[in-house]
Amino acid sequence: MAGTVSEPTRGDSPWKTHDVFNQVPPLEGLDVFAGNLPLLEATEREGAGWVRERASVLGRLVGGAPQLEWGRLANENKPVLRTFDRYGHRIDEVEFHPAWHQLMRMGVEHELHSLPWTSTEPAPHAARAALYMTAMQAEAGFACPITMTFAVVPALRAQPELAAEWEPLVTSTSYDPRLIPASEKGSAIAGMAMTEKQGGSDVRANTTVAHPLNGGGAGGEYELLGHKWFCSAPMSDLFLVLAQTEEGLSCFLLPRVLPDGSRNAFHIQRLKDKLGNHSNASSEIELHGAWARMVGEPGRGVPTIIEMVGHTRLDCVIGSAAGMRSGLLNALHHTAHRSAFGKHLIDQPLMRNVLADLCVESEATTALAMRLARAYDEAHADAEAGEDASDAQLFKRLATAVGKYWSCKRAPNHAFECLECHGGAGYVEESGMPRLYREAPLASIWEGSGNVMSLDVLRALTRSPRSLEVFLGEVELAAGADGRLDARVGELKEQFADPVTLETRARRVVESMALCLQGSLLVRHGDPAVADAFCASRLGGDGGLEYGTLPAGVDFEAILARSRPER
Ligand SMILES: Cc1cc2nc3c(=O)[nH]c(=O)nc-3n(C[C@H](O)[C@H](O)[C@H](O)COP(=O)(O)OP(=O)(O)OC[C@H]3O[C@@H](n4cnc5c(N)ncnc54)[C@H](O)[C@@H]3O)c2cc1C
Repeated sequence: MAGTVSEPTRGDSPWKTHDVFNQVPPLEGLDVFAGNLPLLEATEREGAGWVRERASVLGRLVGGAPQLEWGRLANENKPVLRTFDRYGHRIDEVEFHPAWHQLMRMGVEHELHSLPWTSTEPAPHAARAALYMTAMQAEAGFACPITMTFAVVPALRAQPELAAEWEPLVTSTSYDPRLIPASEKGSAIAGMAMTEKQGGSDVRANTTVAHPLNGGGAGGEYELLGHKWFCSAPMSDLFLVLAQTEEGLSCFLLPRVLPDGSRNAFHIQRLKDKLGNHSNASSEIELHGAWARMVGEPGRGVPTIIEMVGHTRLDCVIGSAAGMRSGLLNALHHTAHRSAFGKHLIDQPLMRNVLADLCVESEATTALAMRLARAYDEAHADAEAGEDASDAQLFKRLATAVGKYWSCKRAPNHAFECLECHGGAGYVEESGMPRLYREAPLASIWEGSGNVMSLDVLRALTRSPRSLEVFLGEVELAAGADGRLDARVGELKEQFADPVTLETRARRVVESMALCLQGSLLVRHGDPAVADAFCASRLGGDGGLEYGTLPAGVDFEAILARSRPER
């Protein structure tokens, strides 16, 4: 009755103030692969259905409580640089929390770093993408060294004798973090060091120099002198490094430990104090006459290392899809259990719009990532057959740049909206959402920031004008199925009419390319409700600038049902 105050509840404690209710149960005990219907469907579609069981084992690991703890612990206990030992000897070691090593071990044992280079099953890149997208939902920091170890292989192959020595080590499925010669432990983790203080995007500005020791040349020994301003995962066993030679910028393989067990002159100056990505160490290093061997031809450093860069860009797309799925899963779970104004949040019409919009974005990014991974399988098969400008290779080259630009750009705001679905609880570290949010911008900066990726699309088009034809050919496989997609593809073609202003308009053009490709994939293969919402809001102009602005007529129930964890 109004105005009356009830008797205080007297339980065990006379000071009991309240019961805890309307809070959300922990999200654990899931199979985050099998529960991810868009990924499950895409894995089958892109030819990697054989990996289902394996991905489910990983999905249950990642969806279980202990693994979620690894991510939290590895971030709350940041890596620490130990420059010297207690006696003053330089050691240049970074100490990680045991949870970091657990994550790394999980990644290596599940072959996230190696599958396409070792498997004889069909579509190993697509299979690996399914595994990677599943694993990275636990924590994204360890993705960096796992990705670099995966991506180093095609670059190493430019120097067959180095590939013969190192490929068995970087594809080994045992993880050993000790800083001893890789040959002794039988495994290796790889990193890369390109960025210097004066330039990261424009690596031609590199000032690190390499002096030949025995005549030099491809495969030859060199001594490196200089610095690198960003060098992540500095405890890795080998690095690909760019340095200047008389012939120009060249690529080198630099081991952290020399074959005789002594440490290479790779000195860690300090660790970066980063926005996010706290579990992983990123360092500034100096090379004081470090021993290295040239990979590829002298003066061909960029074309050599670009093989590694391309594969890391693929992972930026897959990783962005993983981050979106992780945020979405938490948002769907929270809103399904939290009530406000008499209903579960997920049943409130406006919240349904926000969640459905987030589902659409997550599905579109997943479809794009998985299609891109298959392009790597197809391009690789063509290369094995001796082709070097096949349709699959041209599509892979262009779609990697388009996909990296767009999926990485869409990730941070997606993470923010998933966070906001939790209300204040999402702003609190314990929810895990701040970690996801802080991580989200990194993939966009790393390995080619937004503008650089847009310009890379133009570069690919200039080098191989036929690649636009191939790209549009893929998009137009959906021609006639949705008028909004057809109209947008027509507009996209017109955007290439004025080459003079193309660079200024590059972001807009690349955005249109990405949206048309995603639209085509969803129209052809996706759920009709998801495809309809995508075409209406992203292609047909019936949507706003923020999430939660889908038109009222879309099938919210069908879209949400596909993505809900308790499906
Ligand atoms: C956490 C983290 C880890 C990293 N790890 C590594 C690592 O392990 N190894 C490594 O080598 N590097 C690493 N990097 C470096 C990263 O790859 C570079 O920061 C990135 O390539 C950009 O280079 P930059 O910082 O020098 O920026 P800049 O090159 O100065 O670019 C600044 C801005 O200008 C834009 N821009 C550049 N050129 C143009 C142009 N022509 N037109 C329009 N806009 C342009 C860029 O898009 C960017 O937004 C890491 C970075 C981070 C944040």
